[in-house]
Amino acid sequence: MKYQVAIIGGGPAGYTAAEAAGKAGMSVVLFEKDKLGGVCLNEGCIPTKTLLCSAKIADHSKEGNKFGVKVGDVDIDLPKVIARKGKVVRKLGLGIKAKMEGVGVTIVTGEAKINDAHSICCNDEVYECDNIIICTGSKTFIPPIDGIENVEYWTHKEALENKEPLRSLIIIGGGVIGMEFASFFNSLGTDVTVIEMLDEILGPIDNEISSLLRAEYTKKGVKFILSAKVTKLANEVDGISVAYKVDGEERQLSANKVMMSVGRRPSVDLLGLDFLNLNVDRRGTIIVDEHLETSCKGIYACGDINGRSMLAHTAVREAEVAVANIIGKQDRMNYDAIPSVVYTNPEVSCVGKSEEELVIDGVEYKTFKLPMSYSGRFVAENEGLNGMCKLLTDNDDKIIGVHILGNSSSEFIIAANIAIEQGMHLEDFKRFCFSSSYSE
Ligand SMILES: Cc1cc2nc3c(=O)[nH]c(=O)nc-3n(C[C@H](O)[C@H](O)[C@H](O)COP(=O)(O)OP(=O)(O)OC[C@H]3O[C@@H](n4cnc5c(N)ncnc54)[C@H](O)[C@@H]3O)c2cc1C
Repeated sequence: MKYQVAIIGGGPAGYTAAEAAGKAGMSVVLFEKDKLGGVCLNEGCIPTKTLLCSAKIADHSKEGNKFGVKVGDVDIDLPKVIARKGKVVRKLGLGIKAKMEGVGVTIVTGEAKINDAHSICCNDEVYECDNIIICTGSKTFIPPIDGIENVEYWTHKEALENKEPLRSLIIIGGGVIGMEFASFFNSLGTDVTVIEMLDEILGPIDNEISSLLRAEYTKKGVKFILSAKVTKLANEVDGISVAYKVDGEERQLSANKVMMSVGRRPSVDLLGLDFLNLNVDRRGTIIVDEHLETSCKGIYACGDINGRSMLAHTAVREAEVAVANIIGKQDRMNYDAIPSVVYTNPEVSCVGKSEEELVIDGVEYKTFKLPMSYSGRFVAENEGLNGMCKLLTDNDDKIIGVHILGNSSSEFIIAANIAIEQGMHLEDFKRFCFSSSYSE
């Protein structure tokens, strides 16, 4: 069996690459060891956003009175929420399968292993190919904490399947995933504590915005322990105890459940990369150039596996760039213009450089800030929530970063994304006529 393109992994990177190559008339084989759609569809973006949608409806209902809408007791039917999530995932999964079939992609279910630059083995069959695109994604990193092997901790996977009311939850790691789950369980009425090793939540996101989000969630009752290193986990009668070190002092906290959310690592197990001698970094992420090509000609690596941005829409764009290069079209990745959204309530949406990054890079910049109360739509749709829009330019007024706290920033961050992608200056941006709710 010989194919022009062989793709390993059927997540957003893999299925996008397969579709693009199939549409270009190439013969394509796609290997997936689990479910089409990858982490994003089956246990990541889609399931979390589905649960967060239910949580948002519950939050709105609880606040209905402030908007002149009387709602009785709000009761979240968790088994139904989880069942709906399953339905959404199945529906979208069928759509991906239909797309693959529509462009003639051969789907092989099984764990693929690279033999050499032009051959892959799966289910004891050998598949010859001209090009390989590695799209094997990433998996949850579990840090070597003392006692961790003896406790039944959750990762996002277990948290997504929980159908029981939960009294208390400690989330270890206050990054995007940790905060989205903090938001969900807070809406369910769970007593949530987030323990974060850094001095602010949300990792690389602009610190001022992150601290404003933390303040919003503190008001909602979520507790945050920052600059704290978890040192030990142990079982208790009705849960797990978490020992951590903060300000040089050992402290302890207990909860019914503990969720680990400290980051993700590339999925390279059993892939056979050793034979290829690809350039990888110390975490095993595959190093690629702006065309997504690895150090081995004809082998590309797209999505989480290259560790550049670990977002589904980046994976999609990278796959398009890789396939364009395989078919001889000029295309390249621009990592400066990738939006990222935290689907908390309120949402956080960012694109471009943060102030912290600009300081580290030694770039001079100007800051323009507006409270979200300048936005008619924000004021009309929010009661008692604060927000901020921060725009960063270089000294020539070129837009280099936009960071927003507030609903529905996930929708209008796209305009800022286009401005950065197109290298726009403030004057260019101001000439656009936006619909009135966004224009402020
Ligand atoms: C809880 C959570 C929430 C998230 N929310 C968002 C969000 O809101 N927005 C966003 O942009 N991103 C989000 N992400 C990140 C997003 O899921 C990833 O960036 C995205 O899935 C990466 O796509 P990928 O194609 O690189 O890899 P994956 O989606 O990880 O797919 C890789 C696939 O490769 C398969 N595979 C691996 N090895 C082999 C092998 N040897 N043979 C065959 N198949 C193999 C795996 O089974 C998997 O299906 C979230 C992640 C998590 C965990």
